[in-house]
This record gives sequence, structure tokens and C-alpha cells, in this order.
Amino acid sequence: MADTEKVNGKDGVAGPMTRREAVRKAVAAFLFLAVGGGALALLGRSGKKGTVWQIDPAKCVQCGRCATQCVVSPSAVKCFHAFNVCGYCDLCFAYFKPGTLEFDTTAEKQLCPTNALIRKFIEQPYFEYTVDKDKCVGCSRCVKGCQTFGNGSLYLQVDQAYCVNCNECSIAKACPANAFVRVPSDKPYLFKGLQPKEEPKET
Ligand code: SF4
Ligand code: SF4
Ligand code: SF4
Repeated sequence: MADTEKVNGKDGVAGPMTRREAVRKAVAAFLFLAVGGGALALLGRSGKKGTVWQIDPAKCVQCGRCATQCVVSPSAVKCFHAFNVCGYCDLCFAYFKPGTLEFDTTAEKQLCPTNALIRKFIEQPYFEYTVDKDKCVGCSRCVKGCQTFGNGSLYLQVDQAYCVNCNECSIAKACPANAFVRVPSDKPYLFKGLQPKEEPKET
């Protein structure tokens, strides 16, 4: 069949499609899926107005709902650590259950339900605490311990590597402290203490 033949048959009944028309439709379908899918992916990552959800650490009261209300499992909320605020304590109230008398790393002495907080000896009497993000469920127990008896160097943040940036964040709706806010997607964290070093810009 020549490329110049009619696409539609007589009396509005669809007839055989030309090769050119078939190719045009295939390209249009491809562009629709590629561009549309890309746009949806971008929308999902950066939100309607180029914003993402974040927790204001000054407002959070460590109620525990960040661990249970997120649509992602385990929660996209993770514990962050401001190392310049930390006292590097041997007796860390974020790490040990209350009443612990001997400070070692046995699992039953740890306050964290998933052993996500890692204790490392630096030099007497200092210890460093880091968070294994894949294990952290955002329960805020360590945050509460540190906030109540320590320097308050541990705090919760929506980790953008895990969050799918829902239009309506289900934790934001459940948060009793209105601690969830929208922040610009190019500055997606509300850090405590010193800001982590920014990535050097390419020249
Ligand atoms: S729901 Fe709100 S108050 Fe509760 S732990 Fe999360 S941010 Fe903090
Ligand atoms: S105690 Fe909860 S918030 Fe803290 S590191 Fe463990 S899982 Fe994360
Ligand atoms: S926006 Fe969605 S994925 Fe992100 S923290 Fe809220 S509920 Fe979880």
C-alpha cells in the first residue's frame, strides 16, 4: 500500500492505516509515555511547587508517630546527628536503656529497637555515635533520650533518599506538634548545628 492512500475508509468506517500514519502514531505514543512518565517522576520527587516535606526539629516532641504513619516501610524519617553538638558521652542516654550500669554494646542494653545506633570508641572517655539509616525506623527513642538528658544532638529528618514526597504527607497529618513543613527541594534539610559541607560546585 502506498504512503499516500487514505487512512479512513468510506462512510467514516476505519480503514487500513498507512505505514507513515502507523509510524507517526507509534512515535506519538512513545513521546507521550517518555515525556509524561518523566514529568510524573519529577513531580513525585520534587512536588508540585519544587518543595519537599521536612521536620522542624525545634517543634518535634518525639511522639513516635514518624515510625508508624509513613506510607513507606520502614519510615522515610530517619535519625540525623549533629556531631558538633554531641558530647561524645560514654554514658549516652540515646544509646543505653535507662538503668544500664555497664556500658558495652550488647544488644539488650541498647535503647534503639533495631540496633541502628552505632557506638565507636574514640579515646578515653569519648565515644562516637552514628546512625545506620537502613536500620533506623524513625521511632525517636534515641532523640528523646538525647534531648532529655544529653545535648540534643540527635534529631529526626525526612530523609529524601527514602521519601516519595507524597502530596499529603500522612505523618504531617498525624503529627501532634505541626512539625512538618514544606521546604525548597534544593535545600531539603533543616539541619541542627553546623551545616554539613556543601558539595563543591562545578566550574
Ligand atoms: S510525628 Fe511530629 S512530633 Fe511525632 S516524632 Fe514525628 S515529627 Fe516528632
Ligand atoms: S532509636 Fe529509633 S530513631 Fe533512634 S536510631 Fe534507633 S530506630 Fe532510629
Ligand atoms: S511524604 Fe510520604 S513518604 Fe515522605 S515522610 Fe511523608 S508519608 Fe512518608
